[in-house]
Amino acid sequence: PDALPLTPTPDARTVLRNVWGYPDFRGMQAAIVEQVIAGGDALVLMPTGGGKSLCYQIPALVRPGVGIVVSPLIALMRDQVDALRQLGVRAAYLNSTLDWREALEVERACERGGLDLLYVAPERLVTPRFLDLLERSRIALFALDEAHCVSQWGHDFRPEYLQCSILHERFPDVPRIALTATADAQTRADIVERLGLGGAEVFAASFDRPNITYRVQTKDNERRQLLDFIRHRHGEDAGIVYCMSRGKVESVAQWLREQGIDALPYHAGLEAETRQANQDRFIKAEGVVMVATVAFGMGIDKPNVRFVVHMDPPRSLEAYYQETGRAGRDGLPAEALMLYGFQDVVQLRQWVEASDAPARHKRTERQKLEALLGFCETARCRRQTILTYFGEEAPQPCGNCDTCFTPVATYDGTVEAQKALSAVYRTGQRFGVGHLIDVLRGLATEKVVERGHEKLKTFGVGRDLSKAEWQSVYRQLVAHGFLCADPEGHGGLMLTEAATPVLKGQEAVRLRKDPAAEARRTLRPGRSGPSERL
Ligand code: ADP
Ligand code: ZN
Repeated sequence: PDALPLTPTPDARTVLRNVWGYPDFRGMQAAIVEQVIAGGDALVLMPTGGGKSLCYQIPALVRPGVGIVVSPLIALMRDQVDALRQLGVRAAYLNSTLDWREALEVERACERGGLDLLYVAPERLVTPRFLDLLERSRIALFALDEAHCVSQWGHDFRPEYLQCSILHERFPDVPRIALTATADAQTRADIVERLGLGGAEVFAASFDRPNITYRVQTKDNERRQLLDFIRHRHGEDAGIVYCMSRGKVESVAQWLREQGIDALPYHAGLEAETRQANQDRFIKAEGVVMVATVAFGMGIDKPNVRFVVHMDPPRSLEAYYQETGRAGRDGLPAEALMLYGFQDVVQLRQWVEASDAPARHKRTERQKLEALLGFCETARCRRQTILTYFGEEAPQPCGNCDTCFTPVATYDGTVEAQKALSAVYRTGQRFGVGHLIDVLRGLATEKVVERGHEKLKTFGVGRDLSKAEWQSVYRQLVAHGFLCADPEGHGGLMLTEAATPVLKGQEAVRLRKDPAAEARRTLRPGRSGPSERL
C-alpha cells in the first residue's frame, strides 16, 4: 500500500543542488539521469572520475522506492554509504561483513520504504531471501556498477555477476542502469548480451583523459629508469608502481626505500592489516609511492595520484587504461610510464598459450595482448591509439605523449601493410595472425594446404620479412585501426573501413622501426640476421 506522495517529486537538478551542492550536471549525466528517471534502461560507459555514481544516485532519490546498487567492491561499500549518509541520503549496504542482526535491520528499513539506496554484493543478490525482500519492497531502479565484471573478456570477470540477469526476469518494470569505466567493443557487446540490455540506451562518454601524459619505454635498466623518472619528474608526488609479481613488488619497494623514496608494498600476499595500513598511509599521507600488484587500486579514490608506472606491461590495453586512469583524477597534469622488454613479451605470450582456457577465450586473450603490444610499438600518438581501440574517433595527435613529443623512426611500410591486409582479405577475414604470416611467408602448413591458401596470390609474397617482423607489422596495423578483431571473438582479424584506401594504394602507411624485432632476431638461435631486412 503505497501512500500517495504529498509533495511533488523534486526534479533531478534540484536534488543535485540541495543534496550534493553541485551547481550542475557534467557531460552526459543530465541525459542519463533523465533516461533512468523516465523508467528506461541505460548502459553508461564513462571513464574513471567521470561521475558515474550520480547517474544512479539521483534517479534513486527522484523515483519512488529504493535504488538497488550491485557492486563487487565490498571493501568500499561502507565508505560509499557513509559518504551518502553525511549528505543526508538514507543509504545502507548488505554484505558479508554485517552480522545477522545488522542485516535484519537493513532489510526492515528497506521493506518499510526507509531507504533511498541499498548497496549489495552480487552473490547476495540472487539468494531467495534477498529476492523475497525485493518482492516486498518498492524498487526505484537497479544499478549494476562495474558492469564489465559480467564479461569473460574483461579483465575482471566475476561469474556471480552473470546472475544479475535474474533481476530483469523477476522485475521487468524496474529500470536498470549498467555502468563501467572499461569496455572495448567485445566487452560492451558481452554486457549487453549477458545482462539483456539490448533495449538500453547507450551513453558512451569520451574515454580521453587529456591530463595524463603517456610514455612507453623499452627496458634497459628498469630500476634506474624508474628512479630517474621519480626523482626528476615526481620528487614529492604520490604515485603507483605496478609490478607483475609479488616478489618484484617487495624487492622494488625495498630498493626504492633504500634510495630514499617513501615507498610501500601492496599485494594480496601481505597480512590484511599491513595491506590496510599501507593503503591508508598512501591515501592520507603526501607523496607516498605505492609499489603494487594489480590487486591494488580498484575503487581507490585518491584524486592527486600524479603518476602511474608499469614496471611490466599489463595484459591488455583495457587493463592499462584502467590502471593508468588512477592518475590525475583531480584533472591536474599526471603521467603514465610503461616499461616493456622483449622478455615480457615472451612471458605474456607464454601465459596466454599455456593457459588452459577454452580455445575461443585464448584467442581473445591473444588478440588483447597483440593490441597492447601494438600500442607499445606504435609510431602513432599513444592517445589516438588508445582511443581508437575503444572505438572513438581521434583525428588529431594529442601533443601530450612521448610519440608526439619525439617522433619515432619510421619507414614507408605501405607495401608491407598492403601485403598484410591483402592476406587478411584473401583468406576471408577469419584467420589469426599466425596463419596469415604462414601464408605471407609461403609456409605450406597443414592448415594452409587444407584451406587451399597456398594457391592465393598473397602466398609467399612476404618471404623477405621474419615472422617477428610480420607480427610487428600486424600489431601496428591493429594499433592504427586498419584491422580489428572479429566481434565474435573467434580470433580472426578483419579489415576496417580505414584499410580500403591503403589496399587501393591511395594512402601510405608509416611503420615504426622495430627495435624489439632486432632484439628478437639476435636472440633467435641458429639465425643469421643480416639477410632479413627491416
Ligand atoms: P566514477 O565513479 O565515474 O569514477 P565518481 O562518481 O566517483 O566517478 O565521481 C568522481 C568525482 O566527481 C566525485 O568526487 C564526484 O563527487 C564528482 N562529481 C561528479 N559529478 C559531479 C558534478 N556534476 N559536479 C561536480 N562534481 C561532480
Ligand atoms: Zn599523442
